[in-house]
Order: sequence, then structure tokens, then C-alpha cells
Amino acid sequence: MIATSSRSSAGPRPLTPHGLRYTLKDPPSCRATHIFGGSNLFSRKLSLCLGSLVLSLAACSADPNPDGDADGSGGSVGDGGTSAGTGAAPGSGAAPGTGGLGNPGSGGSGGGFGPSDGGAPHAGGAGAAPGVGGTAAGGSGGGGATGGSGGGSGDTGGSENGTGGGGGGGDVGPGPSDIPPAPGPDNVPRPSGTPGNITVIDWAGFPAAVTYSFDDNDGSQLTYYEQMKAIGGRYTFFLVTQNFGVAISDARWKAIYEDGNEIGNHTTNHSCGTSNIDGANTAIQTTFGRAPSTLAAPNGDTSCTGQAPGRVFLNRGVTPESPVKPNDNSNPYQLNCYIPATGQAASAYNSNIDSALSQKGWVIYVIHGINPGTSHTFQPVSWDGLKGAIEYAKSKNVWIDTLENIGAYWLGQKEFAKAMTQTNGASKTWTWTLPDKFPTGKYLRVKVDGGTLIQDGKPLTWDPHGYYEISLDEKSVTLEP
Ligand SMILES: [Zn+2]
Repeated sequence: MIATSSRSSAGPRPLTPHGLRYTLKDPPSCRATHIFGGSNLFSRKLSLCLGSLVLSLAACSADPNPDGDADGSGGSVGDGGTSAGTGAAPGSGAAPGTGGLGNPGSGGSGGGFGPSDGGAPHAGGAGAAPGVGGTAAGGSGGGGATGGSGGGSGDTGGSENGTGGGGGGGDVGPGPSDIPPAPGPDNVPRPSGTPGNITVIDWAGFPAAVTYSFDDNDGSQLTYYEQMKAIGGRYTFFLVTQNFGVAISDARWKAIYEDGNEIGNHTTNHSCGTSNIDGANTAIQTTFGRAPSTLAAPNGDTSCTGQAPGRVFLNRGVTPESPVKPNDNSNPYQLNCYIPATGQAASAYNSNIDSALSQKGWVIYVIHGINPGTSHTFQPVSWDGLKGAIEYAKSKNVWIDTLENIGAYWLGQKEFAKAMTQTNGASKTWTWTLPDKFPTGKYLRVKVDGGTLIQDGKPLTWDPHGYYEISLDEKSVTLEP
């Protein structure tokens, strides 16, 4: 409702290169930041921003984060001990195992499933070679029975502690994911009934979902990032890769990315076009070490909709302001998006969240500048309003995550719903496909009545929050008695 007033004035206007420039606030800052090459980028940018506002009637997007290892590769290196004896704790899945304890003079033995005497790791481990006292390094880490190899190389032996490697995953299938634990009890017993179907849990067990995406490299986003991080959640930043706002080379963007947030594609020059999307993919790959998986159409330009497939797996539009729902028919290449009004109060965002909660939906926001601060971009929000909104979403147990993470769950659930099934005796196997550019390392949380779920030939681990997590990368799962 709130957004309606700003949109209704902006929406109907035709996008012209310079038409909306004077509606923005704080033109001097814009000018200072964006003039280049003899052309006045300020006016260009304003019009683009307005266009996006106007067109924001049209689009939003997001980008990927690094995921945890799906393959259970080795845990982190554990510290060696100084006393002999106690064995390494087993590594559990992707969680790091505690390294074996080094015995002075004998170096560290490996982690993994080391027995209580600190000796050799459990069968299947990579073997902990004890360090030779006084000279050799600590033992290398023991791997899990089937998981990744443990990694530790030791320090010098003798009185130094050997550094045992952490144990890798045990004899279990992929997982866990990096999706935050679902709210609710964490002592749900594993189902022991008769195996039947697999049910995907909407939004990973959260009652609704929300993505806050931030466009246009605006410096104010950097100003408030640490405070957003303190509240919790992960966020998406759609960056323009050439001569726009705070350059993508600024180390603060990299730090944000390394915190698990998403850096998405907002094109090279804030315009749709296959070369502009490809160029931004390449620039982000080069700068951050990973190509983006999502796009935000500049100005909500719908020409990006047809250019996105094969380049990203999601493209955020700028309209409509309605939640995406599990298994609905929202267009992944022109995803729904809410545009907060300038300085809107938390209550306005909160009504969006309330609506999402009642519909079990996913709200996607596009935000530009944040005030007070050096906001130069379209329709800046107030930090007080945004902060209150994020805190409210968190208080309602809403899943606050990136466009990539929540979008992959949404699309993954849809793909699973289309899975082929095959029955073999008492076992049943589901097989699915994934869209082009679907990010790796994504999972679905599922329920069964009983039985054992198998992926990659190994049983999945029951999460006492009340679900199994199946790896979408595996593209199949089998339910056995
Ligand atoms: Zn933009």
C-alpha cells in the first residue's frame, strides 16, 4: 500500500533517458560520483534509477554465495594436544572433527574416528601417522570412514604438539546444508513408520521467507552492513561492474561476500543486453572468485527476462509486490519485487511480512540508498525503518536469506515436484533435473513417514529439527525400508 503512492506517480511514466532526473534527492552527490568521460552520468544514472523505480514496477534479482562442501571433504585441522591419550572425536558430516592429540615425543595422531587411546584412526580413515618424537611432524589427520580425508599436517614433534587433522564425514550421505536451522524443537525423533512418500518442507521449515536486495553499489549500503549483519540473515548486493557507485574492487564488497552474502549481477553499465550481463558475470567472477547466479534487471527492464536464461538462474524484476509462494508459477526470470517508499516506516515493511506469513510466501525487496548517509540513489529508505523491519522479520522466524539461497530452495522444490519416480521392490527412487545455471551445494528439507533415505549410496542423517536434507546436486534420492 505504501509503495503505491510512489509507484503510481512513477510507474506510468515513459522511461526516457533524462526525464526523471530531478526527482532524485541530493543531486550534487550523484554528480560528483558519476560524471565521467565527458558525459553527465549523473543524469543518466538518475534516469536509470528512476526508470528502475518506475520500472521497478518490474524487477529484482540476486546472486550466490559460497556453499558448504557437499562432498564431506575433510574437516578443519584440529589442534594437537600435549598429553597422550585421548582419541580424536569423530568428525560429523561437514563439521570439523577435533584433531588427535599429540603426545610429546610422539607427535600427533590423526583425528577422525581415533579411539580413546589416541592411536590410529578408525578403519576407513586415512591413517594417522604418528610424529616421531623430537623431529617429525604430527600425524596426518584421519579421515572419516567415507568422508573426506583429514587434513592435518603436524607441527614439529618433540615437545611441540602434533596437529592432527580433523575427521572427515562419516559413512553418511551429503550434507548438512548451510541453511540456518529451522525454528522449533530440536529433539524431534526420527520417523520410524512405513516408508511412503517424500514431502518437501516449505521454506526449509520457516513460516515465510524474505530477501533484502540492494542495488547500484550505493555507499550507504556499506555504511549499514555491519548493523544488518548484527541482526542476522544474509543479504544480496546487486553490483554494476563498471564506473558505478562504490567500485566492485572495493575490499568491503569482498568482505561482505566472504560473510556468506550474495553478490549479484546488475550488468556492466546498468542496462540490459547479453554482453552487459556476460561482462558483469566475468567481472564478478574475477573479483570475487565466483560468478553470480542471479541478475537484477536494471530499471526493471523486461528485455533482461529473455537474456537471463543460460546466464543466471534467476532474474529479479521490480513488480509485482506480492509474495512468491511454494510451487507457484512466478517467473524465475522476472521475479516479484517490493520497492519500499522513500523513508517508509517499519510498519509498512511489517505488513508485507504479515502478508507473507499468512500466505506462506517469500517477499523480495529492492533497496537502493539508506539514510542518513551518503545515499545518492533512488528512493532511499531510512535505516530506522529498515532496521525495525529486519528485526520484525527475525522475531517472526522468517527465513532471511539471499535471492540465490531462497530462490534455489523455491525452484528446487518445484523441480522435485516434477521428479520421475521408479519403484524397485520396496525401494523408491526420485530423479529430477535442475535448470541451467542452478547453483551447486543446494538442499531441500524433507519429511518421510519412515525408512532410510539414500543419496550417493549412503544414508542421510536425520536432523532432530525434524527433517532430512537432500542434496539437489545428486539429482536423485532413494527411500528404502
Ligand atoms: Zn539499479
